[in-house]
Amino acid sequence: MGVQPTTVLIVEDDATDARLIREALATTGGSPFHVEWVTQLTTALERLTRGNVDVVLLDLSLPDGQGIPAFDQVFQAAPNALILVLSAANEEKTTRQAVQRGAQDYLAKAHVDAHWLPRALRYVIEHKATRGKLQDSEASFRAMSDASPLGIFVSDSQGSCTYTNAAYHKISGLNFEQTLGSNWMTAIHPEDRARVLAEWRAAAMGEEPFQTEYRFLQENENIVWTRVSSAPMLDGLHANGRVKTVEDISERKAAEFKLLAVEEALYDEKERAQATLNSIGDAVLSTDLLGNLTYMNLVAETMTGWPYAAALGRSLSEVFRIINGTTRQAIANPAQRAIKENKTIGLAADCVLIRRDGFEFAIEDSSAPIHNRDGRVSGAVIVFHDVSTAKSMALKMTHIAQHDFLTGLPNRVLLTERLSQAILLADRHRMQVALLFLDLDNFKHINDSLGHAIGDKLLESVAERLMSCVRTTDTVCRQGGGEFVILLAEIEQQQDAALIAEKLLAASALPYSIGGHELHVTLSIGISVYPDDSINTDSVMQNADTAMYHAKSIGRNNYQFFKADMNTNAVRRLVIENSLRRALRQEEFLLHYQPQIDIASGAMIGAEALIRWQDPDLGLIQPTQFISIAEECGLIVPIGRWVLREACRQVKAWLDSGLHAVPVSVNVSALEFRDKNFLSGLGAILKETGLAPHYLELELTENIIMHDAKASASVLEAIKAMGVRLAIDDFGTGYSSLSYLQRFPINTLKIDQSFVRDIATNTYGANIVSAVIGMGKSLGHRVIAEGVETQEQVDFLQASQCAQGQGFKFSLPLVADAFACLLTK
Ligand code: C2E
Ligand code: MG
Ligand code: MG
Repeated sequence: MGVQPTTVLIVEDDATDARLIREALATTGGSPFHVEWVTQLTTALERLTRGNVDVVLLDLSLPDGQGIPAFDQVFQAAPNALILVLSAANEEKTTRQAVQRGAQDYLAKAHVDAHWLPRALRYVIEHKATRGKLQDSEASFRAMSDASPLGIFVSDSQGSCTYTNAAYHKISGLNFEQTLGSNWMTAIHPEDRARVLAEWRAAAMGEEPFQTEYRFLQENENIVWTRVSSAPMLDGLHANGRVKTVEDISERKAAEFKLLAVEEALYDEKERAQATLNSIGDAVLSTDLLGNLTYMNLVAETMTGWPYAAALGRSLSEVFRIINGTTRQAIANPAQRAIKENKTIGLAADCVLIRRDGFEFAIEDSSAPIHNRDGRVSGAVIVFHDVSTAKSMALKMTHIAQHDFLTGLPNRVLLTERLSQAILLADRHRMQVALLFLDLDNFKHINDSLGHAIGDKLLESVAERLMSCVRTTDTVCRQGGGEFVILLAEIEQQQDAALIAEKLLAASALPYSIGGHELHVTLSIGISVYPDDSINTDSVMQNADTAMYHAKSIGRNNYQFFKADMNTNAVRRLVIENSLRRALRQEEFLLHYQPQIDIASGAMIGAEALIRWQDPDLGLIQPTQFISIAEECGLIVPIGRWVLREACRQVKAWLDSGLHAVPVSVNVSALEFRDKNFLSGLGAILKETGLAPHYLELELTENIIMHDAKASASVLEAIKAMGVRLAIDDFGTGYSSLSYLQRFPINTLKIDQSFVRDIATNTYGANIVSAVIGMGKSLGHRVIAEGVETQEQVDFLQASQCAQGQGFKFSLPLVADAFACLLTK
C-alpha cells in the first residue's frame, strides 16, 4: 500500500548530529521517513518554499542564522509543518521561547536515539492530526449550531453563559459578547420571571430536565414567545453546567391568542343569545335531527312544565304535547315538518299545549329549521306563546289604556310615550319632531245641536281622514272632544310639517256625510317643532296648543307655527277677544237667572241676570273668564247692551205670557256706566221692549259710583227718574263714602258673598254683616245677602233681620226656561 512517507527536513550544520538523527530514523520499522538534510538556514528556507515537508528538525545555531529570529523565519516559511527544535544543553531558554512561538516541541540532541526519536516524531505527528480534527469538529459544530432554528444557551455550573448560537441571539436580541457570562434569567420578560423562577425551583434548579414557555423581552421592547427546554450537561456522571434550547413560538402563540379571542367572542355571543331568549315573552325550544330536545328557554320551561335539565335529550313529543283544541287529536310535530321540508312552518290552527301537569293552554306556534355551517339542516327551533283568554285580555287592557275607545287612535298616554321616543331618536339622527295640535272648529256646536251619536260618527270619520294624510310611522292621536294631535316623528325641516298641515286642511275641506247630514268641519292647527321651539315633551305639547289657539283666534281653518312671542296667556286673551266679537255677531251669549228670596216667606221677590257664553268649541263659559277681557277691550259696552235688552225682553215676554214675573237685576260695569250713550241706550231698550222700568234694577259696585261721585250722582238721578231701580253690588268690598251713600238714590245693598261666607267662620264676618244690615235698614234700603249656601247662614241672616238672600242655598242660576217654571201664573 502506498502510504506517503513522512518527509523530515534536518537543518543542522553539525554533520555528526545530523548523521545520528538520520541513523535513528533509518532504523525504525514503521512508516518510512524520507529524510533530507541541509546545513544552512538559507538552504532550509529555500527547501521549505518548495513545500511537502512534514517535519522540520531545526538547530538554532546555524552559520547563517541563530536563535529565535532563525526560528521565526522557518515558522513563517512552513506554517503547516511540525517544527521540532534541536536543542543543546545550554540552549534551554531559547528552546522554550521557540515552543511558545509555535514550535511543536524540542529534542535534546543528547537523547537522540533510534529507539524513541521515531516514536517521539510519530507522537507529535499524531497529536497534531488529532488537534486539527478537534478544531475541525468544533468549527463544524459551530456551523451546525448556528444553522439551527433553535436557540442554544450553554452555561457552566455557576450558571454563567459559556456559549450561545445565532438563533439565540436572534431570539434574545443580544449578541455573543452580551450573552457570554450572563445568566439565562436576564432575558426573560419581567412579567414572566417570577413564574418561571418558581417552575425552575420546582425542577430542582434545573437539576432535572425542565421545560416551560415564556417571553423574551428584547432591548427594543420586542417580545418573543418561546418554549425553553433545559437539561444538565453531564461530564461522566456529574452535571457540568446546563444547555438550554429555545424555540421561537410567537406565531403559534399569536394563533392561540386569536383562537382564545374567538372562543371568548363565541362565549359572549352564546351568553347574549341565552339572555335574550330568556327575556323574551315567547317560549323557545330546539331539537336535533332526531327530534330530541336540545334547548329550551325559561318561558318554555314554565309553559311545558318541564325543567330544562329533565327535558334535555327527551323526545319533543313528550315535552311539547300539542293537540287540536276542537278535535282533541294530536297535532303533527311542527319541528319534524320544518326539518323534513326545510322551511318555516306556520302555526296549526286551534293548537292547545298540554302542560306536564295536564293544564292546557291555547298557543300559537311556528317552527323553523336550524342549519349547520355547511347549510345542512341540523335540527329545528319552535317558538310559541300563550294566546289563552287571560293573555289576550291583558293585551286588550293595555290597548285600551293606550287608545281612544271611539276612534281606536292612540290616546294621550301613548302619545306622550311616542313623543319622548321620537325626541330621543331625533336627537340621535339629528332630525326634528313636529307636533300638530288640531281642533275641529265648531265641534261643540255640532255635538250639541245634532247629538252625540252624530258627533261620535263625525269624530270617527275625521280620524280616518287624518290618518290618510300622514305616514304610518307618524302618530295620530285623539286628545278628547274635537281635539287631535299628530306626531310627525322624523322631519328634516319645518316645511315638512307645513305641507302636512296644508294636506290636513285640504282633506277637511270636503264635507262629511253623516246620518243624513252634510257636515262642514274646518280645522285649526297649531304646530310646534322640536328642537327649534321646544326643549322637551311638555313644552312641545304646550306650544302646539298655544299655536292652535292662535290659529283659532285669527279666524280658524288655518295652521300656525308656534312663535316665541305667543305667550300662552296673551294668546288666550287674544283668542277670547276675537271670539267675543264673533260671539256678539253670532249671538253666542245667553242669560241665566238666579232667584232672590224673601227669607221669612221663601217667596221669590226678584232675580239676577247672569251672563253665560256658549262657545262652539269650548262650551259654556262663565263670566269670570271673559268679563274682565271684555272690559279691557271695550267690548263690554255692546255686550252689556245686549244683556240689558235680553233681560228686558225676557221679563216682558214672561209678563206677556201671564207669568207672575219678578224684577230682574242686571250687572253694569264701569265702562258701560260711564259710556255717554248709556242713559239713552237704557231708555231706548225700555222703550223698545216695552218693559215697565220698575221691573229693572241695575247693579253697580261701590267703586263704579264713587269713582267720580259727582258725575255718578247725576247719572244715578237720571236712572231713578226713569223709574229704574239701583243696587250696590258686592257691598263692603269697595270704598264707600257714607255721606254719598246717603245721598245717592239707592234702593238695594247687596252684601258681598265673602262676608256671608265668613258668617259662620269668624265673628268679623258676622259683625260686618250685622253692621251692613243695620246701616241699610237705617237708610231705608233693601238689604240682600249674596252667596247664601248654608242653613247656618240663613239662620244668622234671619236673626240679624236681613230679609232677603240670594245663593245656591235657594237656587243655582237657571236657564230662562227652568227659571220660568219657578214663576207662578
Ligand atoms: P255678581 O254680580 O256678584 O254675581 C253673583 C255671582 O255669584 C254669580 O257668579 C253667581 O252665580 C254666584 N253665586 C250665586 N249664588 C252663589 C252661592 O251660593 N255661592 C257661590 N259661591 N256663588 C254664588 P257668576 O254668574 O259667575 O258671575 C260672576 C260675576 O260676573 C258677577 O258677580 C258679575 O260681577 C259678573 N257678571 C255676571 N253677569 C254679568 C253681566 O251681564 N254683565 C256684567 N257687566 N257683569 C256680569
Ligand atoms: Mg251682581
Ligand atoms: Mg255680587
